[in-house]
Amino acid sequence: MNKPRKLAAGNWKMNGTLAALAELDALLEEGDRDCEVLICPPATLIHPAVARIAGGGIAVGGQDCHAAESGAHTGDLSAAQLADVGADYVIVGHSERRTDHAEDDGAVSAKAAAAHKAGLTAIVCVGETEAQRDSGETLDVIARQLAGSVPEGATAGNTVIAYEPVWAIGTGRTPTTDQIAEVHAALRNALVARFADGAGFRLLYGGSVKPSNAAEIFAIANVDGALVGGASLKAADFGPIVAALDAVG
Ligand code: PEP
Repeated sequence: MNKPRKLAAGNWKMNGTLAALAELDALLEEGDRDCEVLICPPATLIHPAVARIAGGGIAVGGQDCHAAESGAHTGDLSAAQLADVGADYVIVGHSERRTDHAEDDGAVSAKAAAAHKAGLTAIVCVGETEAQRDSGETLDVIARQLAGSVPEGATAGNTVIAYEPVWAIGTGRTPTTDQIAEVHAALRNALVARFADGAGFRLLYGGSVKPSNAAEIFAIANVDGALVGGASLKAADFGPIVAALDAVG
């Protein structure tokens, strides 16, 4: 089984207007890479981003999708609608969605299944809060979220797992390399136990990844890339992170 390429994914969250697409030009200028590069801009920018990239080697994704294909869900977007405008990926179960919109594991699993049905690769996020880490629950929380948020039918080709400790997102704090290695090993073991191709799923680390810590994080076993928030907004920051991932091969 060929493992998919390593993945550097940027989550722009609710940041950016059309002017921000200039950052894509700067990323494209850096040329081809061995790893895959993905930008998940706000929904308003997905179609213009796809047009701007014009097949130039950066994938585009959504930050969320509804579990239904269509219907009376004001303000929501379906996975099919994302695919229709050229998205290849969608993030589901980001901690900000779990918190702001009370999404539980069942809801996240339904969204991931909808993504698969529409031909999108789902990036399923899991991660413990600081209180859960402090009370020694991290591995239990991660196991529970993984089991509940990844649907049957997931494969190494249509699903990516992102480990994002809630307390590390946007805070400038990161777990130690041993802590990341421990969680990623647990994720790998759980995937291998459940899926025939569990060894091939890409496991991303997310939470305050920046140019200065990327190489150290990418050297950790079972880290196949990163989901990057703040440092993905500017090509001057995201470019070096992509280069660091390329450098580990
Ligand atoms: C994220 O929200 O997915 C994230 C990892 O954010 P940041 O890189 O800003 O911590």
